[in-house]
Amino acid sequence: MDYRAPELLIAGRWRPGRGSHRLVVTNPATEAHLGELSAANQDDLHEALAAADAGFAAWRQRPARERADILERGVTRMLQRLETIATWLTLEQGKTLAESRQEVQIAAEMIKWYAEEARRVHGRLVPSRLPGATMEVRKYPVGPVLALSPWNYPVILTARKIGGALAAGCSVIVKAAEETPAAVAAMVDCLQADLPPGALQLVYGNPAEISETLIASPVIRKVSFTGSVGVGRTLARQCAEGFKRTTLELGGHAPVIVWADADLDRFVPMLVGHKFRNAGQACLAPTRFLVHRAIEAEFSDRFIAAASTLKVGDGMAAATQMGPMISAQRKSAMAPLVADAVAQGADLACGGVLAGPGHFHAPTVLRHVPAHARIMMEEPFGPLAPITAFDTLDQALGVANANPYGLAAYVFTDSRRVAQALTDGLQVGAIALNSVAVATPEAPFGGVKDSGVGSESGVEGMASFLETRTVHAAA
Ligand code: NAD
Repeated sequence: MDYRAPELLIAGRWRPGRGSHRLVVTNPATEAHLGELSAANQDDLHEALAAADAGFAAWRQRPARERADILERGVTRMLQRLETIATWLTLEQGKTLAESRQEVQIAAEMIKWYAEEARRVHGRLVPSRLPGATMEVRKYPVGPVLALSPWNYPVILTARKIGGALAAGCSVIVKAAEETPAAVAAMVDCLQADLPPGALQLVYGNPAEISETLIASPVIRKVSFTGSVGVGRTLARQCAEGFKRTTLELGGHAPVIVWADADLDRFVPMLVGHKFRNAGQACLAPTRFLVHRAIEAEFSDRFIAAASTLKVGDGMAAATQMGPMISAQRKSAMAPLVADAVAQGADLACGGVLAGPGHFHAPTVLRHVPAHARIMMEEPFGPLAPITAFDTLDQALGVANANPYGLAAYVFTDSRRVAQALTDGLQVGAIALNSVAVATPEAPFGGVKDSGVGSESGVEGMASFLETRTVHAAA
């Protein structure tokens, strides 16, 4: 399928950016040049702001049912174009075509869920203190939103923001990742067809320039960001200046606690699949395997055997089970973490860097990793699986909570007592018990500590795009 680098969508029209800078898109599996697009400049950004303002004024007037119908028609178009969007996603991001197809399907479901939820946004009546008077709590869309998303799940993570913002009646300017521009643009094109101009816009360019310019404008009332902790912190500071609402979905370093009674036949294949999905480049990927000492050897042997047989290759090839990493820079961030763990006493059981072309790195498993190794504290965001043994519940909890992240955690046990103690004690926003499913359209997803502020999806996600107004009416 022919790959086409996108243009920008500003004020209802697809057109090239006016910036002099050209953004180059490459295929991480082959390092081949896929295409180029021109970046947004200041004029483009100011035009987008004016259009977001006008788009908001028009879109917020549409009844919720009409907004829902328009979004659902967009979802239908997305599913009709699934094969194109998925193929472009694999070409520019690297994940297998099967994973890309699943990503587009999940993204469509997320928008559909928000579309349905648009019909259910309501306020409440509070009994007044005065005879015959009323107090009404109303919900209004918060205003034009700036949505910034990363390259690892560009379609899903952008869909979560677009779906919530548009369903609530907000307009939204999307700045998705420059590494993966076409898949997101194809989705945006499906969604924008019946919207007023400016309700949904898409820009690419210099990320810092775009965010500074847009956040400084009084037009933008909310910023929804998914990405690294460092950039999240910068954006939070910029938003504080204008008291703009923020939802920040940041990094993760998910502990997996495997108790002595866990069913390894069932859970090891599940965990290997989840760990190496998207070459480990997932915020909710399991990244620290804490295994009860009684079963650590058996767990490790099985995990290593399964990880070593995964077929690594171009995501477009049918036999591939794990694609490349996104860039040479991300790939080269793996070796120092592995070397440090080994220097601290860990055993490298399998894996390592693979030769190019393409940013390939084998599924890598480290055993006996001490709690103070760098990999136990720094988000690896790649196909590295450190395993360590524990003896007591308190010890497992101590290691699990001993880093600044708090996004997801996984617990495997048949014991209600152990599951309850870990559910209560883990400092995270989402826990999967005997499962790896932690993010769905209808339940909130968000982190604590350095993993972020606020939630997306679920009624909490919808509420993040709404503001509250109380109306006191005398008799
Ligand atoms: P990143 O923070 O570098 O980039 C994310 C987005 O922000 C991209 O669109 C990027 O272009 C933009 N950006 C970069 N610098 C910017 C700046 N100065 N101002 C404004 N925008 C800027 O993150 P990344 O490395 O591309 O993505 C990986 C990170 O994202 C990991 O830490 C991962 O855990 C996190 N992530 C979190 C979630 C979640 O839901 N919590 C999901 C996926 C990824």
